[in-house]
Parts: sequence; structure tokens; C-alpha cells
Amino acid sequence: MIAVPGTLFVVATPIGNLGDLSPRAQQVLASVALVACEDTRRSGQLLTGPAHPRLVSLHEHNESERVEEIIALLRTGADVALVSDAGTPLISDPGFRLLAALREEDLPVSPVPGPCAAIAALSIAGLPSDRFHFEGFLPAKAVARQQRLQALSGSPHSLVFYEAVHRIDACLADLVAAFGPQRPATVCRELTKRHEAIYRGSLGEMAALRAADPGAGKGEFTLVVAGAAAAQGPGDAELERVFRLLAGELPPGRAAALAARITGAKRADAYRLASLPGPD
Ligand code: SAM
Repeated sequence: MIAVPGTLFVVATPIGNLGDLSPRAQQVLASVALVACEDTRRSGQLLTGPAHPRLVSLHEHNESERVEEIIALLRTGADVALVSDAGTPLISDPGFRLLAALREEDLPVSPVPGPCAAIAALSIAGLPSDRFHFEGFLPAKAVARQQRLQALSGSPHSLVFYEAVHRIDACLADLVAAFGPQRPATVCRELTKRHEAIYRGSLGEMAALRAADPGAGKGEFTLVVAGAAAAQGPGDAELERVFRLLAGELPPGRAAALAARITGAKRADAYRLASLPGPD
């Protein structure tokens, strides 16, 4: 594809392994007049060619001011690249205001696709990937996080979360509480890096898998959690639908017992859905 002069290239960069910087990404970064990035020192390491473009910082706090500067440069016919610290810009990273402004002004844009932690995790999770819900970072505060997880617990699609090391254990505990311990999940730590670790099991097994990982206290995490439908056997979807309707009006135990009677399901299955101890 031949881009017109004055194009903004949105360039994906490695999420760990520098060998994942594509030849095209290298070529684009070497040919543009300006690279807008979160951290000029970090992104400067990706520029290996003899001609160094100018680097400017673009982050959450200065994105609005940078937009005008970049649009003015693009209008002169110069090309600009947007990168983030790692992975694909705009995926839980800055750049949205810039791209929205270029859309408004009908200025040319072109992607240089490549690494993205969410897609990398989904590609190896072994969980349904035909449809998925990208949630990114959950709220940092416990109550808001638990409420958000409750709202997501009935999603039929695999869910992808980003999480920081200092919150991963609290996040896993909240996932168990909201989705139940049986829900299949894949937790990825340090993808593409030397100490990459991938835990596969149920949510209830994740704490033990983390305890067995010598590098558990470090790194970046991406979680893929199976949707409600994938965790269920045939017939469970109806049980879950009825249970969720009743749980909006009744205490969980009462809703589970009634849902079992209405659908003919086992009471134990209804209690499991409600993440409650068995009925007897
Ligand atoms: N734009 C990036 C992308 O395309 O993946 C994501 C940026 S977001 C600010 C950073 C988060 O992505 C990390 O906190 C972690 O949850 C996830 N992440 C980034 N690199 C990762 C890696 N190598 N392994 C696992 N998760 C990673």
C-alpha cells in the first residue's frame, strides 16, 4: 500500500521481545519526520537506522496540546508515527484524542499492525476466541472492581483483562467471587519475555498456580476468562438466564432454589451458579 504524504502511521511495537518489531515498523519509524510516543527515551531505542526522526512525548496529560502540533505538521505533507511504550497504541494506551481529531479533519491514517498483549494472550489461551470482550484494566478500587465483575459475570464471551502485579491477587480473588471457582481461565505473565509464564486452569486453581511460580511477584499480566456460556453444560444457559432474572429481585439462595424448580435443573447446579455452598 502506498500512503499519501502527510499520513499518521499507528505503529505497534514489541510487548517484551524486541525481535517482534516488524521490518515494516522499522522502515516506517526510520522514514517519518516525527515519532509521537509516551516516553522518548524508551521509544528512541527502537530507532536503529542512521536517520533519526524527531521524537516528541504524547501521553494522557499532554495529548490535547500535541494534537494541534501534529495536525499542523501532517498538513505540510510530512509523515508522523504514533507509538506507545509497548504493543498497539490506543489499546489501553494514549492516542484516541489524536485519532478522533484526524477523523474529524479527514486526514490520512494507516496502521502498522503487530504485537498486542490482549491478542497474544487470546491466541494461546485455549478458550473460545471467535467472539471476545476486551475489558482492559478493571477499576483499582476494590468495591468498583467487584461491581464491574458482577456486571460482567453473565457475559457469554471470553473476557480479556489487563492487570498490574500489585493487584493481580486481589483481582483473581474478586474473579473467583464473581464468576465462581470453576470458570476456566488463562493467566499470562511476561508474554514474549525471558520469564514468560502461562497458567491454565480454573479460576479457583490460579492462586495455587501462582504460588508455584517462582517469578509470581514480578511482571505484567493479561488474563483471559471463559465466558459464562463456555463454562456451562447444555441446559445451563436457561438455568443461568432464569437465575439472573430472579437474582435481581430475590436473595441469591432463594433465586437459586426457585431457578432450579422452574427449569428442572439440579439444585446443586443452581447453587454453584450463585457461588453459594450446596443446598444440603
Ligand atoms: N497497548 C498495549 C498492548 O497492545 O498490549 C497495552 C498497554 S497497557 C498500558 C499495559 C498492560 O498490558 C500491562 O499492564 C499488562 O496488563 C499488559 N501487558 C503488556 N505487556 C505484557 C506482557 N508482555 N505480558 C502480559 N501482559 C502484558
